[in-house]
Amino acid sequence: MANPSRPVSGFEKLDLSPEMLRSLRRAGYAEPTPVQAGVIPAALDGDDVVGQAQTGTGKTAAFVIPMLELLDVDTKYPEPQAMILVPTRELAMQVHDEFEKLAHGSSLTCAAIYGGTPIRRQIERLRKGANAIVGTPGRVIDHISRRTLKLHDIDMVVLDEADRMLDIGFRPDIEKILRACPEDRQTLLLSATVPPPIEKIARKYMRNPQRLEFSPQKIAASSIDQYYFTVDQDKKFELLDKLIEREKPKQAIIFCRTKRGTDRIYEKLSKKYDKVGVIHGDLPQPVRNRAMSELRDGKIRLLVATDVVGRGIDVSTVSHIVNFDIPQYCDDYIHRVGRTGRMGADGVAYTFVLPDEGEELTRIEMRIDTLLKPAAMPEMDLVAPTARAVEIELDPESLREMEEKKAVQARLGRGRTGRRKRGL
Ligand code: AMP
Repeated sequence: MANPSRPVSGFEKLDLSPEMLRSLRRAGYAEPTPVQAGVIPAALDGDDVVGQAQTGTGKTAAFVIPMLELLDVDTKYPEPQAMILVPTRELAMQVHDEFEKLAHGSSLTCAAIYGGTPIRRQIERLRKGANAIVGTPGRVIDHISRRTLKLHDIDMVVLDEADRMLDIGFRPDIEKILRACPEDRQTLLLSATVPPPIEKIARKYMRNPQRLEFSPQKIAASSIDQYYFTVDQDKKFELLDKLIEREKPKQAIIFCRTKRGTDRIYEKLSKKYDKVGVIHGDLPQPVRNRAMSELRDGKIRLLVATDVVGRGIDVSTVSHIVNFDIPQYCDDYIHRVGRTGRMGADGVAYTFVLPDEGEELTRIEMRIDTLLKPAAMPEMDLVAPTARAVEIELDPESLREMEEKKAVQARLGRGRTGRRKRGL
């Protein structure tokens, strides 16, 4: 049994309260992760922070710890002093759980307010008072306009997975919310990437933010073996099936681009395998919650998912990621693959690439600054030779182009259309 009075070495250096050190020990966090070591001191100093970090790096605790240290414990029926905006309900629940875990032993509370569930219960919850709230922007706006949420006491705002919130189209809501908060608040922004629209928000709504980068691409690359298969669309399922047979993943998430595609793969997999689950935005919230907790408990071994809900899934036991469809956005690749190899554990990711998706793959490789390794499934013919022959026969222009590309690739030592090797 751990002695609660013994100092927690790495966290002690961060000048945290004895209560916080106790609760970190209880959570089993012995050492701060790099994101925590960077963000916590800056946040405790009252600085605004733009932190480039992806899920799986301990980023939630990186803002929850300073938030708990700064919140006012004595307020009895408080208006919230801290607000965390997140892109999805799943993430809202995870952040809420992390808050509760680290607030253990204190009276500080956090209310989660997100769409897809009845608003009434949330109104009741807010009426009781909460020191902090975590919510999705749409539902937060809803509560503000109903006057069930008041922001005049807000001292700290966290924008978590800011790039994703912008992707989903939450930008106007976020700006509206930020404008409704007191101007002298502190703002922390966490994002896997910092594209220009995020820079704009930082410039407009933050005060001289400290920029901290935790190089997500390096983190993703460090403990994860990343492979690709070039495969025809109609061979993808067979390849997936053979891959599952060969690799026998402890737990895998299979990402698809569309909800319908996700359902289709789920149905086909369920016919052959046990412990298959599905999660996408059209499923009712309780069903999604159940799938998430079953994944966490190991009751689901193969989860078929779309990107929006795939984000923020925090399960350290996921051993395999399969991108059944290549992600549409490079950053989705980082988020998808970030589901495995969490906290330094080993993981493997396979991306299925159609013969004409070479450019997409190259873009991803450039983004993560890592080349994916080609994978093989020797007993399968992944790309139909007839399709290639017809293409060549029908179109002499593309034949010439292919010959030229082949010559370039031979020089680069690469063997597939549309790929370039950087640094040559
Ligand atoms: P996050 O990046 O916030 O999604 O965190 C990923 C996982 O790491 C979560 O399960 C956390 O509970 C866990 N975690 C966060 N900080 C630490 C730490 N310092 N030591 C060990 N585990 C941690």
